[in-house]
Amino acid sequence: MNRFYFDHNATTPLRPEVLQTLAPALAEVYGNASSIHYYGQIAKQRLEMARRQLAGLLKCDPREVVFVSGGTEADNLAIFGIARQNESARRHAITTSIEHPAVLSAFAQLEREGVDVTYARVGSDGIVDPNEIRRAIRPDTVLISVMHANNEIGTMQPIEEIAAIAKDAGVAFHSDGVQAAGKIPIDAKALGVDLYSISGHKIYAPKGIGALYVRNGITVSKLLHGGRHERDRRPGTENVPGAMALGCAAELSERDAVSENRRIAALRDRLEQGIVDRAPAVGINGARDSRVPNTTNLHFDGIEGEAMVISLDLKGFAVSSGSACSSGAVEPSHVLLAMGLSRELARSSLRFSLGRDNTEAQVDALIEAVAESAAHLRKISPTYTARA
Ligand code: PLP
Repeated sequence: MNRFYFDHNATTPLRPEVLQTLAPALAEVYGNASSIHYYGQIAKQRLEMARRQLAGLLKCDPREVVFVSGGTEADNLAIFGIARQNESARRHAITTSIEHPAVLSAFAQLEREGVDVTYARVGSDGIVDPNEIRRAIRPDTVLISVMHANNEIGTMQPIEEIAAIAKDAGVAFHSDGVQAAGKIPIDAKALGVDLYSISGHKIYAPKGIGALYVRNGITVSKLLHGGRHERDRRPGTENVPGAMALGCAAELSERDAVSENRRIAALRDRLEQGIVDRAPAVGINGARDSRVPNTTNLHFDGIEGEAMVISLDLKGFAVSSGSACSSGAVEPSHVLLAMGLSRELARSSLRFSLGRDNTEAQVDALIEAVAESAAHLRKISPTYTARA
């Protein structure tokens, strides 16, 4: 059976060019970048080249790039790195109700540490109103964190506007850019963010590497304690091959993102329209006009999302219900609930996230498979009544 992957927001395969960078690097670039001998110097050079490549993607100064282990660590370093600096004085922070668990759990921990947290609501379109953020700011607010693109529904938040509000109020602003990088052009300076998270495995680099953009002038407290690596912001011997792979993926994405994402957006639209045309009682979750090009999230009245995932998997298609990180949990997606969907509709939702390897033929086959699975599952659904 042919298998086709439509779950690129969960993770992406390595790009062949990235593998060609990574495989020899694992064997050859084994020096410790802090060593002063030849091996160390080679590792250091490669690490700094990777930093420049990443700075190219983010349009920033290479000194503003801190290599970390992935998106979760980047988010945690940003959030605790800012909040813990102000432990005794100011005690309030703002985020949204649709963040990834890497952000939401960090804020829950901040609450346990005595910080007041405001969770800004989103509209039924999955977008936060910047005025909600403005209204939530207090004299003791130290941090605002709003994701750039949502992992489940793909909606993009008005980051520039929120950054301007944060700047006016003198509050540090972090954005989780894990699902935006590689899908839309990023310009850290133009966005106005102080901190911005990136994850390697979402942009065709391996798991276990990521980066945090820290604007020059912003200081973050360290999460870990050890050596003075990464300009004393992230201790631990650097993962140089991982950084090289991330640098390579960043450069490639910077080079062909515009044309590739146009192609992917057309495929996504074809998939979405095809499903809506072929299967009755399907609705699109979230704004259609402000989202990353590769994602669509649909609800299917009367069907359990998990049953649909399994049915499609048996036909060779990998898709996701809720976010991958929370799959296995019975709870419906917190993002869809925050947008006002009922628990039933939230539970009936599926995420399709496309990528570089998807073709028109695969999309057409997926439309057929979804229509078939939906019809079959509805026949045995106790809750679905076909509309006349
Ligand atoms: N933030 C978002 C929006 C994500 O989608 C993810 C992963 O799904 C993460 C953070 C966590 O990234 P990582 O898996 O690299 O830790």
